[in-house]
Parts: sequence; C-alpha cells; structure tokens
Amino acid sequence: MHSNNYKKIIIIGGGYGGLKVVANLAKYQNNQIILIDKNAYHFMQTDVYELIANEKDFAKVSVDLFTYCSGFNTNVSFYKQEVTNIDFENKKVSTDTNRFSYDYLVIAVGARTKFVPSIDGLQEYAHGVKALHRAMYFKQKFEMSLFKKVEESGATCKPLNIVVAGAGLSGVEIAAQMASFAKEFYCSNHFLCRKLNIVLVNSSQKILKGMDAFLVEKSQKRLLDLEIVIKCNVRVASLTEEHVTLNNGEIIPMDFMVFAGGIEPNGLIYKLDLQKNERGFLDINEFLQVNKYKDVFAIGDCATLYNNEQLIAPTADVAEQMADVCSENIMRLILKQEMKKHNIRSRGILIALGHGYAVGKVFKFYISGYIAYFMKKFIEKVYFIKLDRHSKKGCKKIFKQ
Ligand SMILES: Cc1cc2nc3c(=O)[nH]c(=O)nc-3n(C[C@H](O)[C@H](O)[C@H](O)COP(=O)(O)OP(=O)(O)OC[C@H]3O[C@@H](n4cnc5c(N)ncnc54)[C@H](O)[C@@H]3O)c2cc1C
Repeated sequence: MHSNNYKKIIIIGGGYGGLKVVANLAKYQNNQIILIDKNAYHFMQTDVYELIANEKDFAKVSVDLFTYCSGFNTNVSFYKQEVTNIDFENKKVSTDTNRFSYDYLVIAVGARTKFVPSIDGLQEYAHGVKALHRAMYFKQKFEMSLFKKVEESGATCKPLNIVVAGAGLSGVEIAAQMASFAKEFYCSNHFLCRKLNIVLVNSSQKILKGMDAFLVEKSQKRLLDLEIVIKCNVRVASLTEEHVTLNNGEIIPMDFMVFAGGIEPNGLIYKLDLQKNERGFLDINEFLQVNKYKDVFAIGDCATLYNNEQLIAPTADVAEQMADVCSENIMRLILKQEMKKHNIRSRGILIALGHGYAVGKVFKFYISGYIAYFMKKFIEKVYFIKLDRHSKKGCKKIFKQ
C-alpha cells in the first residue's frame, strides 16, 4: 500500500500487540511511529515459566525497546515514559514529562494482576508475575527459599510451603514449573531435605476454567503427578506472613504465595472516558476501534474481544492477531478505504507443565507430552529471535553514531 499522506501514529505499550503494530506500520515511510512504554523493555510473559526454572535469565525474557526501535528506519522512535492521560478531542497523549499529538492512536497497555483489596495481606505478602520486576523478585525468593532448606539440611528439616492462588493458565504453569524444578534440583544434587508442599487454590469447580476438557484433564493429572495439592471451590480470604486463610476457614501454612487469581486493566484505562465492560476493560467494535473515536484503536489484554458474540480469551497470540487487523485498518483509513472486520479466533494454546511436558490445542488438534513442550519452546524461540535480530541491528546503528 502507498500513501502520500504523512501520518503520526502513537502506540502506547510495547507488549505483544504494540510491537507487532510498530513492525507492521514501520514499513510505510510516510508513517511516523512513536512507541511509548513506561518500561525500557518488552517483557515476554509467556516465558515466565522458564525464568522460574532457571532455564532463562531475565535478559532472555526481555527485549530492549530503544535498540529494537532503532532497528527500523528513522520513522520509528521510542519514549520510555508513562502515559498518564489522553485528550481524545484534541488528539493529545500526556505522559509524566511530555505531550504528544497524534493522527491515529493504538492503546495496547495490557493488564495487571488484580491484587483484590478485600483480601487482607494480599498486596503485602503475595507475589505477581505479570510485571518483570515482580517475576524477578518472586524467582529470587523461590530460589532463596530452596537454599534455606538446604542450609537447614538433615532429614528433619521443615517443608517449604508454597501457595499458588488462581488456577488459570499462569497459575497452573507456575505451580507445575516450581514443583518440577524443585524436584530436579533436590534430586540431582542429592539433598536430603526435599519436602516441598505446593497448594493450588482455585475458586472454580475445575482448574483452567473455560478451557477444553482434554486440557483440563491432562493438566490436572500432571499436577497431581507432581504432588501438587489442588483445592477447588475455595478462595483466599486473608493472609499473614506465615499463613493463608481460605474462605471455608481452612488455614494453610505458607512460606510464600503467588497470586494469579485475576487481571484488571492498567491504571491508565481507569482514567479514560471510554465505553468499558463490567470489569473495566475497553469495549471495541468489529474494526477494533474504541467507541466515539474513529482514529483510536485498542488491542490486546486491555480490550474485550468478541467473535460472533463469543468472548475471545486474551492471550499473546490474540494480541498479535489484533495488531495485524488494527495496522491494516489504520492504513485503510489513511488511504480512505473501507475498513476490514476482524475474524479473530484463538489459534491455540500450549500450557507448560514442568520440564519436558506440556499440553495444548493447536488449531483443532490436541497434543501433550514432549512434542507439545518442544512446540511451545520452538514458538517462543522464533518470536525471540525475530525481535532480537531487530535489536541487534538497532544496537549496531546506535554504536556507529
Ligand atoms: C505467566 C503467564 C503465562 C502466559 N502464557 C501465555 C501463553 O503461553 N500463550 C499466550 O498466548 N499468552 C500467555 N499469557 C498471556 C499473555 O502474556 C498476554 O495475553 C499478553 O502479554 C498480552 O499482550 P498485550 O500486548 O496486550 O500486553 P502486554 O504484553 O502486557 O504489554 C503491555 C505493555 O504496556 C505497557 N504499559 C502499561 N501501562 C502503560 C502506560 N500507562 N504507559 C506506557 N506504557 C504502559 C507495559 O509496560 C507493557 O510493556 C501468559 C501470561 C502470563 C502472566
């Protein structure tokens, strides 16, 4: 597509969705692309399970956004700033230090862990994994806890008690990965002190709510094989430094807890005077535009996506598909062409359940075991290499100057 009109496009959020829009639109030299993110890096949340298992360090689950954006032609720039508000009438984005004007805007700010305020002690004592600094802190605490048990040594050492609240995709992956890693860690090092209790607390009747029976049953079996205790139909009511109290009165000892019990929109979304659903996520139309403003699109976890009235679960894969539709529609608007309606569906899901094992559904096919694990790793690797190549190019350019 060619356009003679010079257009300024701002993308807020360098996550899975935002980066895909940057790459798609940067191809058109008449577009000036501005990416704004509060962090200097893109965080690959889908690879958190490998961070926990020490299979990757933080450098392998993040990509520097300055160097990534420098890898494009001069029409892409990156600003590490937090967007604090948007004036849709005057087409201005405000950050903590700047004001940018735009012709088209893409809101791709993702979501954050919902630390429910009514649960006493949650904010204070629980860990989240949706932000890199939190995931890093949690990983370090997990390793330190394992080390402390080794230090205590002897057959009489106390067990390490971990509670994971929330049995959706991230809670299930993290519980399985910790169990699998700790098992290998203690066994391969012949440590005497091996007792690790992982309790997975789930408010629904089954784990992985809303997913196909195959995925639920296979995952449940794997978690039980890894000796994880699953408690369904209960919620965390409160926590202290050492205990978690459930809403049925049960008290579970806890050395540390991971909270994966739900997501909520990021702070910026709360401030915007746009139509939202009952959970506060942005409503969008079939072209992925927000209500009222034709030049504003919302993609990824911060928006609610429906296909034929069916809610599409937010994933990295869906965020990237939304990015493709949104980029195409921006170009069509620029060229005064009719926009394209989306027909996005989940192309599949792969759930890592400890070293060498995953379950998944890819298009219509169910897979499990090492092949699923290998496929998940392969997809992640390809994604990382693509971004990394671009960053290398950007890095060379910067250091040449
Ligand atoms: C543990 C875990 C495992 C997962 N596994 C999978 C999986 O296997 N497969 C899968 O498809 N999905 C998986 N997901 C879900 C997937 O990570 C998300 O759906 C995906 O990250 C959404 O992409 P996004 O672009 O909408 O937002 P994000 O990737 O969250 O990016 C949002 C960006 O916006 C920035 N931002 C936020 N607010 C502001 C602001 N005010 N100003 C400037 N910048 C801002 C953030 O810094 C961030 O860089 C997993 C998630 C977790 C937590």
